[in-house]
Formats: sequence, C-alpha cells, structure tokens
Amino acid sequence: MMSKQIKDGFAGTVGETPLIRIKSLSDATGCEILGKAEFLNPGGSVKDRAAMGIINDAESRGLLKPGGTIVEGTAGNTGIGLALVGNAKGYRTIIVIPDTQSQEKINLLRAIGADVRPVPAAPYKDPNNYNHIARRLAEEIDGGFWANQFDNTANREYHRQTTGPEIHRQTAGEVTAFVTAVGTGGTLAGVSLFLKEADPKIKSVCADPYGAAMWSWIKHGHLDIDDGDSVAEGIGQGRVTKNLEEAPIDDAFRIHDSVMIKMVYHLMESEGLFLGASSGINVCGAVKLALEGGPGQVITTILCDDGQRYLSRLYNPDWLKSEGLDPTRQGLDFLREI
Ligand code: PMP
Repeated sequence: MMSKQIKDGFAGTVGETPLIRIKSLSDATGCEILGKAEFLNPGGSVKDRAAMGIINDAESRGLLKPGGTIVEGTAGNTGIGLALVGNAKGYRTIIVIPDTQSQEKINLLRAIGADVRPVPAAPYKDPNNYNHIARRLAEEIDGGFWANQFDNTANREYHRQTTGPEIHRQTAGEVTAFVTAVGTGGTLAGVSLFLKEADPKIKSVCADPYGAAMWSWIKHGHLDIDDGDSVAEGIGQGRVTKNLEEAPIDDAFRIHDSVMIKMVYHLMESEGLFLGASSGINVCGAVKLALEGGPGQVITTILCDDGQRYLSRLYNPDWLKSEGLDPTRQGLDFLREI
C-alpha cells in the first residue's frame, strides 16, 4: 500500500536534510567526509532550525502570542528563518542587522517581508551593538518577543533533538566525529550534546575562523587570542554564549580564509556543491581532523548555506581580489595547507 509523503508546511519541512558524502575528500583522506546539507532547508540555511526551536519554545512558554512581533539581531540567516517561520505562523518580524552584511541577505530579508533595520557595526560591549538594539526594541513593542539566538538555549536544544539524532541515524551510529564553526554555538553545542550522550567517544571539534576566540577558549581556556580576520559571515564568536556553556567540545582548529576559499571553489567545481564561506571553514576542519587522526574516521560537518547568498562577494572575482583571496589551486594540493 502506498502511504502519503506530504510535509506539513514550512515547519514540517525544516530538517531531515541529506548527509552528503564528499567523494574527492573522502577518497583523498581514507575517511568518510560527510556534509549535512543544511542549505536544503526551506529558508536555505542551518538557521531554520534555530528559528523553529526558538519560536516553538516561545509559543509553548506563552512569550509569543497570536499577533505578536518577533525581534532579532542577526547577521542574516537566522532572520530569514525567523521571518519565514513568522509568515507561516502569523507573526511580524523585525530584523536588526549590522550594515557590514551582504546586500543579498538584506534584499532577501526585505523581499520576504521582514522589517529590516541596518545599524552600524559595534562591539558587543557597546550598547549600540545590534543585539542590544534588538532587545530594547522588543521591550518597547507591544507583543514583542526577542529571539535572542545567542543566549536562548532553545536554539541548541533544537539541534540536540533534531540535527544530532539525524546525523547519528544517517551514519547508522558509525559517526566518529562532528566538526563545525561557531556563530551562536547552537549547532556545535546541540549536536555535541546529543552525540556525546549516544557515545562519549564521538569527538566534537570546533573549526574556528581567524578573528574569533573559540579556538583560544577551547584550547587554552581563555578568550584572549582572537587575532586575524575572516570574510566568513554568520560565524566568528568572541564570547562564551549561553548556548556554548558546558558544551562537551574536545578540540578546535583555526582555519585560514586563504585555504577556505580554495575549499569553497573545490567543492563547487569538483563536487557541484555551491556553498558559503562557513561551509568552507567547516569542511576544512573535517579534512584537518581526517589528516591528523588518520584513515577510518567517519567525520560529519555542516554545509550551512548556499553560494547564491554571496554572489557579490565570494563568487565575485573583483571582490576576491580586493580581499587578497585567491581560489587558484592544483588538484587537492591545498589540503596540505589546512
Ligand atoms: N554559517 C552560517 C552561514 C550562519 O549564518 C551561521 C549562524 N549564524 C552559522 C554558520 C553558525 O551556526 P550557529 O549559530 O549554530 O553556531
């Protein structure tokens, strides 16, 4: 008998993404290098999961009521997820965004009906940091709800309940490691919490861009080393968010943009995977773990969002030149530079 295979709207379509074997890198390392295709979520990124987790939790706690307004400070993808969940559930969405973010993301947010408020970039300790502006705005608006993706642990909880179990099931329990970069930390912490509970031997690793302090925190127990810079959007954290607190993370790598860009172009040109920079950092992290730990590992990571969001940047030769980034490479020789 045939059974119906119909998803229930936006909410029913988030998650259950394919786990993709990256052939060239698996063959080259003797490990299974597996990318979770989060760019196939209905809002186009891994952040649909955080949006779902946060909104479901707020509804169940009575913090978000019919006719309410979701307010968030976001670098983009969470805003897209929140705005689409909001549309599907009947909430208005206001997004406060640093004006350093790509125009594509801002255009996309406006196109899907979010009230977008670009503000000058300011450090977290500055009261005019976009997160603090979002919090104040939510307090001022009747029926306003501040999603607070960095410190609202409904974010990591959703990953613990969905992304983690999916990875475990999709590898038939054979996963030996999970590697990903940190924005809020929801993905790394949530997936790690689940996998460690399933099998404490499964390694949890952070792939950190330069300019962030997670590598410093995980390797040295302090946030002092945050030198360098990265063009990757959505990642690069300088503090221990609530989502990261007590997350079982074993190790961390720092990944240079110079090798990230080669990976992003390799994935596009040789694997047909058209992705953003954070996915490049993640896959570099997976390969580094493969090379350090040797063959036989089953290493999983996140393919966070797709390249269309970055046409004017990552996929624009003039922009690459202006950033001093060069995707030119000889086969897989660049893996040695990771
Ligand atoms: N990659 C991209 C493109 C993102 O937008 C984000 C979220 N800001 C991440 C990676 C990191 O995910 P998380 O917030 O769960 O750490």
